[in-house]
Amino acid sequence: MSLRFEELIPDYIRGLPVYVPGKPIEEVERELKIHAIKLASNENPLGPSPKALAAIHAAASETHRYPDGGTKVLREKIAQWRGVRAEQIFIGLGSSEAIDIVARLLLREGLEGLTSEGTYAPFSIAIRMNRGILRQVPLRNYGYSLEAIAEAMTAATRVIYLANPNNPTGTAFGATEFEKFLERVPENVCVVLDEAYFHYASREDMPHSNELFRTHQNLLTLRTFSKVYGLAGLRIGYALGNETLVAAMNKVRTPFNVSGIAQAAAIAAVDDKEHVHRCVETNARERARLIAGLREMGLKPVESETNFVFVDLGFDAKALCEELLHRGVILRPLGWMEMPKAVRISVGTAEENTKCLEAMNAVLRGMASRA
Ligand SMILES: *Cc1c(COP(=O)(O)O)cnc(C)c1O
Repeated sequence: MSLRFEELIPDYIRGLPVYVPGKPIEEVERELKIHAIKLASNENPLGPSPKALAAIHAAASETHRYPDGGTKVLREKIAQWRGVRAEQIFIGLGSSEAIDIVARLLLREGLEGLTSEGTYAPFSIAIRMNRGILRQVPLRNYGYSLEAIAEAMTAATRVIYLANPNNPTGTAFGATEFEKFLERVPENVCVVLDEAYFHYASREDMPHSNELFRTHQNLLTLRTFSKVYGLAGLRIGYALGNETLVAAMNKVRTPFNVSGIAQAAAIAAVDDKEHVHRCVETNARERARLIAGLREMGLKPVESETNFVFVDLGFDAKALCEELLHRGVILRPLGWMEMPKAVRISVGTAEENTKCLEAMNAVLRGMASRA
């Protein structure tokens, strides 16, 4: 008798797509024997705050101990900063953990989770993995159509996932539009507002999630330490929302989900406003240069509120990305997200962006001469 796991694993799990991360630098360098730069995972090219690094070193010697399972100090710090109570903050293993746990709590067979097409893949994976029925609404001009999303709600909808700004298109919706949307959402539907790229947004009318939370208890905001804080490798993020929901989230997470090193780093990172400021400024400057460079090549990058740029090439992106890989530039083709003609380029350091633009120019010219 042979063990047949495919019969033991239920259909709704077997049918899930695999989340495809950006290629690791080491893998490319090992396989192709070249020096590579990675602009594929929206990481912070300036790295963590020096204060966070110092906190990491200091915390390392306590690694034989379990961390604070209640993440008290960090929760209190975030609560104070965001103007809420510590009981309204959930600390997760990246915001990824919160994305999954919300679906686990609110969905079951027959209930629906709603999101957009062309958005962060873990949203739809969380809905399906937790037996929910997935509903998706098409993008409109690379951005969410909040109106269409509101119209797609049914009596079975329990959770709506929105990334603002959106990944991978880099667009954002403003406060007025979001407030109008929230007014249409019934109280028993949880709106998960993922603000992973919030700091990078340049538009001035971004929704104020803390204030909206006061009048909309069904709003759960997610933030991460993976992007502007430069701590992606430590896996830490948080959710801000209703305390009954937060208490339930804490019941189902694993005990000691977040390491002591990650907690210490996040505590220090929150305080280093100067580093955040420097990262945001550098990003804005380099993002503008990257967009201008892409336009000069005749491409049509989408205006971005994030630390990456989305380009609809109009032709298959895979071959381009493959050639760039051989020139040591790792980008993220979006074929696995059903956007085969699109590529996402993370904003790197000035040097990295220059290398990316030069490599892209060379590859495009090569492609044109062969055509
Ligand atoms: C990068 C990203 C996150 C961060 O996930 P972590 O698990 O916190 O690293 C969350 N949401 C979106 C839309 C992202 O692009």
